[in-house]
Amino acid sequence: MQSNRQLFLNHVAQTSTQPIGIEMVKASGIHLWDVNEKSYLDMISGFSVCNIGHSHPKVVKAVQDQAAEYMHLIVYGEFIESPQTTYSKYLTEQLPESLNCVYFTNSGAEATEGAMKLAKRVTGKSKIIAFKNAYHGSTQGALSVMGDEYWRNAFRPLLPDIFHEEFNVQSAIDSIDKNTACVIIETVQAESGIIKPNREWLKALRKKCNEYCVLLIFDEIQAGFGRTGSLFAFEQFEVVPDILLLGKALGGGMPLGAFIADKRLMSTLTSNPVLGHITTFGGHPVSCAAGKAALEVLLDGKYIDTVFEKEKILIDLIKHSAIVSSRTAGLWMSLQFASAELNQTIVHQCVKNGLITDWFLFAPDRLRIAPPLIITEEELRNMCAIILKSIEEVIK
Ligand code: PLP
Repeated sequence: MQSNRQLFLNHVAQTSTQPIGIEMVKASGIHLWDVNEKSYLDMISGFSVCNIGHSHPKVVKAVQDQAAEYMHLIVYGEFIESPQTTYSKYLTEQLPESLNCVYFTNSGAEATEGAMKLAKRVTGKSKIIAFKNAYHGSTQGALSVMGDEYWRNAFRPLLPDIFHEEFNVQSAIDSIDKNTACVIIETVQAESGIIKPNREWLKALRKKCNEYCVLLIFDEIQAGFGRTGSLFAFEQFEVVPDILLLGKALGGGMPLGAFIADKRLMSTLTSNPVLGHITTFGGHPVSCAAGKAALEVLLDGKYIDTVFEKEKILIDLIKHSAIVSSRTAGLWMSLQFASAELNQTIVHQCVKNGLITDWFLFAPDRLRIAPPLIITEEELRNMCAIILKSIEEVIK
């Protein structure tokens, strides 16, 4: 009989030749346990999904209650489903007035796809400006706006009329013209190893979009839900997008994505053609119930208020001569090492020492730190100690 590991390798489609490949059997709060009862601290929150930790009892209860009431009923947008209505109300109450209408999807990539279609439909234009080292998902449209030729090239032809500009650079603003439908940008670039926008630059980008009737799309799929120190990262830059993309933590551990815009814009998807964007499972009632419960836990627990203090702990404690540079945005940090190979070895050593971490897609020489926001200061200090111990063990 094949072991679970063999089944995983032989029958579950693989995304790389070197998966982490640990068999986990339980997760709770900031902890995970493998099949051998070894425990791990989750230092990446399942890639910024588990911002309130794993399997929070209130989220579990919301899932169980909703599953007992109903699960899938019909395709998205036909019946009135209270998990969708209550979550869209709760979400939009946290957002500026212009972001008042939520289109729920299954994933982040689908939110990107929907937003790009919406921008084309609203403006009647097709040119899209995206950024180098940006990640917006792996489907064909999202891949077309991905900011790295190595990852795109094997899948050409992709969408035409897409221009990749430098983040934080004036030429990106200059490239916006009357043919531009939208600018899509991560409010804080994630997979480049965490790069914040310059506030004045972002404001100037917004201004130019206004001048040319271009929609500005902020992707906060990874940066959202408190990670950077405010519920949404854009709050710190005094710039409001026309369309906001959410995913990951949006579903509280269940699959859910969304693109959010003003109802006047969103209504263009309802006619000519009717059903301009449709999905079977988008806004699944169980996912919406879980997401709303998770957002309540996040806000009621005032975890976001602790993010900057915790960022300071990271900055103060994580110091080592092997670290070439580091960047933070709230409880989110990247540590750069001399090479991708060295970083890989440190990542493996961290895992060996019971700390789950990884690298960044466009910055393989950087180690990722993004623990659940519920982590206590003591747990964070302990995490820092394990990182330093792991670095020390590798370079000794
Ligand atoms: N946008 C950003 C910034 C992301 O980090 C991701 C996923 O990592 C996506 C979009 C795509 O989301 P998903 O994997 O749910 O399709």
